[in-house]
Amino acid sequence: MKTIGLIGGMSWESTVTYYQVINEKINHTLGGYHSAKVLLYSVDFAEVEQAQRKEDWARVGELLADAAARLERGGADFVLLGTNTMHKCSEQITAAIRVPFIHIADATADALLAQGVRRVALLGTRYTMEQDFYKQRLISRGIAVDIPAAPERAMIHRVIFEELCFGKHVAQSKQAYLDVIRLMADAGAQAVVLGCTEIGMLVSQADTPVPLVDTTLVHAARAAELALES
Ligand code: GLU
Repeated sequence: MKTIGLIGGMSWESTVTYYQVINEKINHTLGGYHSAKVLLYSVDFAEVEQAQRKEDWARVGELLADAAARLERGGADFVLLGTNTMHKCSEQITAAIRVPFIHIADATADALLAQGVRRVALLGTRYTMEQDFYKQRLISRGIAVDIPAAPERAMIHRVIFEELCFGKHVAQSKQAYLDVIRLMADAGAQAVVLGCTEIGMLVSQADTPVPLVDTTLVHAARAAELALES
C-alpha cells in the first residue's frame, strides 16, 4: 500500500472527514484490520486565513509548498491538499515536490464526467467561486460552471468562515444553502459541486433531490484508490 501525504487543517474540521473516509475506503477494500498509511501535515489555519484575506497567495503558497516537501521527505508517495481554495497555490506546491500532487478539481471533474454531467453550479468560498483557478480546471474538461449571484455568494462564504470552520451547524444556514442549490438547479445546473471541504458537514445528498458532488468525499476516495494501485 502507498503512503498518502495529506496537507490538512484548512479547516481541521474537514480534515477529520478526509481521515475517516480514506480509512473507511481502505478497510472496505482490504478488510480485516487494514487501515490507511497516512502522513498528515496539519497547518495553523489562522496563518492561512490571514494571508487569504490579504490576498497574499505567495506567502501561503510558500507555507503549503514547505508542508508538501516535508510530507515527501517523510515518505509520502503522493500529496493531496484538503481544501479547494488553497488549490489557488497548486503550482507552487507541485514545483516543490517530485511525487504526484492529486488536484481536487481533477478528481471532481472525473466524478462529474463519470455521471455525464456537463453543467454544474459551484458553491465554495468567494475565492473559489469568483476567481478562475478552480473553475478553469473544470471548464478545461468541458464542464460549464455557474456560480450563485453576489448576495448568495456572500452568504455561502460567511457561513463557511463564521460557522463551518468552527464546527457550527446552523439550521437556518442549511436551509439557505438548500435554497441556493434548488435555485441553481432550476436555472439549469445538472449537479451542484460542494466546492469547499466543509460544506458536506452542513448539507448532503439525503437533503436534496438535486445531484451533489462533494469534493471532500471525491478527493478522499481518489486518495484511497491511488494508495491501493500497483
Ligand atoms: N476548506 C475550504 C475550501 O475547501 C475553505 C477553507 C480555506 O479557505 O482553505 O475551500
